[in-house]
Amino acid sequence: MVLEERLLAPGPVPISPAVRTVMARPAVHHRSATFRAAFVRARSLLAEVLQVPGEDVLLLGGAGTTAFEAAFVACVPPGATVVAAHAGKFGERWAQLARRYGHHVTSVEAPWGSVLEPASVAAGLRAEPQAGVLTITHSETSTGTLHDLRAIAAAARAAAPDVLIVVDAVTSLAAAELRPREWDLDAVIAGSQKGLMLPPGLGFAWLSERAWARLPEAGRRHPAFTLDLHAERPRQRQGATGITPPVPLVLALEVALEQLLAFGVESWWWHKANLNAAVLAGLDALGCRAFAARPSPAVAAVWVPAGVEAAAVSQALLALGVRVGGGQDTFATRMLRPSVLGYVDAFDALAIVAAFERALHALALPVTVGAGVARFQRRLVDGV
Ligand SMILES: *Cc1c(COP(=O)(O)O)cnc(C)c1O
Repeated sequence: MVLEERLLAPGPVPISPAVRTVMARPAVHHRSATFRAAFVRARSLLAEVLQVPGEDVLLLGGAGTTAFEAAFVACVPPGATVVAAHAGKFGERWAQLARRYGHHVTSVEAPWGSVLEPASVAAGLRAEPQAGVLTITHSETSTGTLHDLRAIAAAARAAAPDVLIVVDAVTSLAAAELRPREWDLDAVIAGSQKGLMLPPGLGFAWLSERAWARLPEAGRRHPAFTLDLHAERPRQRQGATGITPPVPLVLALEVALEQLLAFGVESWWWHKANLNAAVLAGLDALGCRAFAARPSPAVAAVWVPAGVEAAAVSQALLALGVRVGGGQDTFATRMLRPSVLGYVDAFDALAIVAAFERALHALALPVTVGAGVARFQRRLVDGV
């Protein structure tokens, strides 16, 4: 018997009872004092979580990609040269977006599952002396990889001091260490339905002063209307938006951020990394090897064992009430991506491993039921 499907995928993620409750409250007008106060407070808490206290983080109705596009057009002039560093599907998306805007784009690529090397990114920038922008995905959700953004940003800055470093932090925000100021990043974007424990529908964008100052006059930028961050910035400081915001999500954001900050942002990073490592260890004991050379705490991308298709495992997991992410592109038949993102604790994470061993057993694969769970527990209890 399955009572309720468990959402253990890298977005959308489970949400807390407090967040569900606030979203069920009677409707609030977006020009009311109540809403303005909540909006201002949510932005301020979000800046704390993003390690940029007191700075502007803009909220946009839409998704993470909406926020990326808005941040990109806010600081990248038409006809720019863009170096896109990628080793997975989301990183590739930013190269596509830049091409769609007519930029000259060169890629620094690494195979899916491997890391982007700081030296390769630096070499890519040196090879394009005109490059004004570097795009990069911190936690590459399609491969389960956490790129070493601190080292990559330092190498990029040394190779091209004025380059704008535009970062997709959709699954690293509230999952992995992320320090936009210390690491000298220029734009960091994320969305609500991943680490922040909210439903989909909000995108977030933070820009450095360097990025805000790059294109001060509208005439030098690609035209944008609903995605014009330069127009939004002064409004949002007053708790207002140019267009109607997703009111319940903003109220929910305030609650989710309070919960996260009460736990502690750094503790949260540590907790997620630990849970994900335990899931990877448990799945490894079942013959599901990690896909990523440097795993992201946001997602445990694994190969399914030889002799079975990912879709069959996925179906068997669903029959047990566990929904995980599937593999993407050419890895769709061989990879699964369970995740501990969002309102997920150790016993939710344990359900991933317990369900995998039951699913593989149901598919007549040679697994010892209990071996994965034992490995998971040992990793959490003994740290090895
Ligand atoms: C989910 C995800 C996205 C896309 O987010 P949307 O909110 O669907 O636009 C982008 N990048 C990464 C790394 C993601 O995990």
